[in-house]
Amino acid sequence: MKKLCKYCKSSEHTIDFCPEILCKICNKRGHPHWKCKSKITDKKIEINNIKIDEKNIMKPIQEKKYDCSNLKTIDDFMNIINIPWGELNF
Ligand SMILES: [Zn+2]
Ligand SMILES: [Zn+2]
Repeated sequence: MKKLCKYCKSSEHTIDFCPEILCKICNKRGHPHWKCKSKITDKKIEINNIKIDEKNIMKPIQEKKYDCSNLKTIDDFMNIINIPWGELNF
């Protein structure tokens, strides 16, 4: 049984190799966005540019959790107003 192209319903090719499909990333015809080469090169550049310092990653995760059981006054609540909800420990 032949697979039909999900995009143009042709039996000559699958959607991965569809000549009609429009790429969402580079807006060029001829490849789906998951096969886009401009996406792959962008990712490689991003990874090369990011210098990961393990100390910088570990510190915020351990120290940012804010213990809300210590909040008693309005001033205490005003102090946490800039802390993201995910980092509050109720
Ligand atoms: Zn097709
Ligand atoms: Zn593309």
